[in-house]
Amino acid sequence: MSLTNLKILGAVAVTAAAFAFAAHGQSTESGHEPYPPFKIGEGLYYVGASDYTSYLIVTKAGLIVIDGGDAPVGHQVVQNIRALGFDPKNIKILLNTHEHFDHAAGLAEIKRAAAPDVKFYASAADGAIVAAGGKGDPFLKGARFEYDPVKPDVTVKDGDKVSLGGWTLTAHITGGHTPGCTTWTFPVTVAGKVRQALDLCSASVLAGYKLGRTETYPGQTADYEHSFAEWRKLPCEVFIASHGSFYGLKAKKAALDAGKADAFVDPAGCRAFVDKAEAHFRDELKKQNP
Ligand SMILES: [Zn+2]
Repeated sequence: MSLTNLKILGAVAVTAAAFAFAAHGQSTESGHEPYPPFKIGEGLYYVGASDYTSYLIVTKAGLIVIDGGDAPVGHQVVQNIRALGFDPKNIKILLNTHEHFDHAAGLAEIKRAAAPDVKFYASAADGAIVAAGGKGDPFLKGARFEYDPVKPDVTVKDGDKVSLGGWTLTAHITGGHTPGCTTWTFPVTVAGKVRQALDLCSASVLAGYKLGRTETYPGQTADYEHSFAEWRKLPCEVFIASHGSFYGLKAKKAALDAGKADAFVDPAGCRAFVDKAEAHFRDELKKQNP
């Protein structure tokens, strides 16, 4: 879930139900329109939709996919991988930023197309919710948020590394948006230089989240505090995230098409995003705890 989707709803009282309505494509802007797949860096490809993202990493030992979008995006990811000339049957590792349907509902479809021995890695908190098909989220309740479940094969803790074919990704548990929200970092070569990529889970405080004295889930406020400190510490040169709107996917893709080979290298944009998201979090915290 993103802040942008919420803003579309404007002054309307935002309930989880209204939220789902917007996120399911009945608003003017939906996140799951097909989007052409493209190369971000050496071995790193965008295979997601217009806003719900998915990334493909091509290693010499097989493919890694991070996030599945919602259910329609799951199909698109598989098609996008084929369109790039890769075989989804070589997907050996599936990763997830968080359990919300717009990032996890497509995982089941991708898993069906993947190698029979594909391994799904997820954090303990979010992995349990993906295993239950979205049931158990502390805020998004009801059938419209549920999806085809996928059971994690491996549980990742903060700092755990996932390796395949010369690539190593590090998991950072950056909770708040969801209890086990996971940010992934890894080195990648872009325009001839090794850069540190950061796939930011989400820093959004959804309208209706309770912070401070009363919380949407116990420990949520402290989780956000930890996450903002963590995002400030982590190197973030290639800035990507669970929603394209977080990092200006479309503008960067246009710059890439216009010849800017390192369009996705944007450490300043990464810091600015964290600053803005933290300011919003602090505003909400203050408002709710006068
Ligand atoms: Zn979300």
